[in-house]
Amino acid sequence: MGTEKEFKVGVDLFHEDTLPHVGVVREEVCLEGCEARPCAAVCPAGVFRLVADPLGDGATSPGRLSGVLVEYRRCLECGACLLCCPRDNVFFDYPRSGFGIIHRFG
Ligand code: SF4
Ligand code: SF4
Repeated sequence: MGTEKEFKVGVDLFHEDTLPHVGVVREEVCLEGCEARPCAAVCPAGVFRLVADPLGDGATSPGRLSGVLVEYRRCLECGACLLCCPRDNVFFDYPRSGFGIIHRFG
């Protein structure tokens, strides 16, 4: 059984945009200058996720260079990632009108 917060998130709707409204500014800054990776710990929606061994296998998947995969479509638009990044390396803006999260309980 989930928490009240998880339940409310579970019934919210997302109108997915094709343009990311949140993400990493410069991937190399994450890889070379941020060992703590607080964005992955702070985001309540799991938008920022750590990618294991980002330079180890030659893959070209998203997030490989930074070590952080950003699933922007899940974003709750709280702004916490913008505040927690010690390198000022997160961009965030609200999604375009009509896109993003639709809160059913206000
Ligand atoms: S906190 Fe900022 S610099 Fe560190 S991994 Fe996240 S986006 Fe990159
Ligand atoms: S705005 Fe909030 S929910 Fe969206 S990516 Fe940042 S921390 Fe996660």
